[in-house]
Amino acid sequence: TNRPIRRALVSVFHKEGIEVLAQAFVQAGTEVVSTGSTAKKLAELGVKVTEVSEVTGFPECLDGRVKTLHPYIHAGILADMTNPEHAAQLEGFGIKPFDLVVVNLYPFADTVRSGASDADIIEKIDIGGPSMVRGAAKNHATVAIVTDPKDYALVAERVANGTGFSLEEREYLAAKAFAHTAAYDATINEWTAKHWPKPETFVAPAPENADENAADKSQTKFAPQFTRTWDLAHTLRYGENSHQQAALYLDPLDQTGFAHAEQLGGKPMSYNNYVDADAAWRAVWDMAPSIAVAVVKHNNPCGLAIGATAAEAHKKAHACDPVSAYGGVIACNTTVTLEMAESVRPIFTEVIVAPSYEPAALELLQTKKKNLRILKVAEPVKNRTQFKQIDGGLLVQDMDLINATGDDPDAWKLVAGEAADEATLKDLVFAWRAIRCVKSNAILIAHDQATVGIGMGQVNRVDSCHLAVERANTLADGANRANGAVAASDAFFPFADGAQVLIDAGVKAIVQPGGSIRDEEVIEAAKAAGVTMYLTGIRHFCH
Ligand code: 5GP
Repeated sequence: TNRPIRRALVSVFHKEGIEVLAQAFVQAGTEVVSTGSTAKKLAELGVKVTEVSEVTGFPECLDGRVKTLHPYIHAGILADMTNPEHAAQLEGFGIKPFDLVVVNLYPFADTVRSGASDADIIEKIDIGGPSMVRGAAKNHATVAIVTDPKDYALVAERVANGTGFSLEEREYLAAKAFAHTAAYDATINEWTAKHWPKPETFVAPAPENADENAADKSQTKFAPQFTRTWDLAHTLRYGENSHQQAALYLDPLDQTGFAHAEQLGGKPMSYNNYVDADAAWRAVWDMAPSIAVAVVKHNNPCGLAIGATAAEAHKKAHACDPVSAYGGVIACNTTVTLEMAESVRPIFTEVIVAPSYEPAALELLQTKKKNLRILKVAEPVKNRTQFKQIDGGLLVQDMDLINATGDDPDAWKLVAGEAADEATLKDLVFAWRAIRCVKSNAILIAHDQATVGIGMGQVNRVDSCHLAVERANTLADGANRANGAVAASDAFFPFADGAQVLIDAGVKAIVQPGGSIRDEEVIEAAKAAGVTMYLTGIRHFCH
């Protein structure tokens, strides 16, 4: 099934690595047809190359929009030479077939990332390139299609030694080529969908008596077909467990965000490191302008605090649960100072994330904590679409950010006790902002701008309340830290029992969404104990 390569079509945007191919073409005396600047480059390298325009008898035109789009080229790509009729037709037209097509496309994603104008971006939508790639891939019966420069060395070897490729190899190259054009088009789709939203004229009016739940798909902001490309950045040592393979993929259009953090020291990031460090960074970034530090373990904060300095914030966050902080991930939303680095130094920590480091802090961490992964993130978290895979499907949603009306204490409703004094209200606001990153059911007890007890991930709210109280009180060497503190609940109390646990532990104020059919019972319990209670009207589930 091997087909030697006698005639090749080469049209590449990126010319890197083409030398090795050129050398093979020269050695094998391969006839090469090529587009403008590729032809020029190959000629410089000594290849006997014919310009596409010479083959077609038609000049490249419209600023390169039309170069190879011509039957003299495409019939040469698409003729199945194992089919005698195709071969005869081609001969009748005086067209010669290609055995090899080498193409790489206009760099659409790079152009978007470079901040180019819309006109420049649109000009980088390759038209002839994908047509050649798809044509050659379809006709893998007789053509080898190469789109990946990493394959040039092998291609050169096969050109030079005259063996060409086997059918299985051509099939593999074709599959790779279709993946390439599919990803290319998906990237274009992602950009155009963002830039050209649906105009009013295309929004069909909802039919009369329409069932709200069965709303027309076209009414949602999500496209009926959700295409999105992710480029493989690198594979990871393993996934959540050592028997799971894993990799990191990145968005080709937007290379910002935590996944692009610069690593300044330590061992390579693992799958779990990425998950925890991302959670830690998301827990602190929007506490600005306050200085905040979070300590995260298994995707949950075991301490979160605001301090006058980064070091103070870290000490307060660590003090919440020093037992759990062992082997954790630390995120700071501002510069890590030498003092904070000193505070981190004695604690076994997997990862530290921050937007910047004092030079002395960085040096200390790099030299005294060699295994510590030190990450520098360039920008705050963006409101991105979130994905969650379920068996056979994908759930898509907006991110939960602290920006809803109910996150503003001015919008809170006082339903029990006296209005909180300034310090108490500050703690309530802190607790409410902090709870957004705690796995549900979440109960968070805070005092003096720091968590003192967190109950997370329980399947009922009473257990979360018990856990929060227990952590607040037993982890502090017998000090009753829940007493006089404030508490937040990520969702409403379905019964009074959970709230009662907090009240019995001595919390003086509680903030919660409200909205339960038993709100009155919960409010009564607070009132009876003289505990202040605010309702936010919104919740912050985090599953
Ligand atoms: P060159 O740099 O050789 O002048 O052009 C190579 C680039 O042109 C390749 O990226 C290839 O995909 C693209 N290309 C080839 N033929 C056509 C065509 O007919 N129309 C468009 N828009 N691009 C083409």
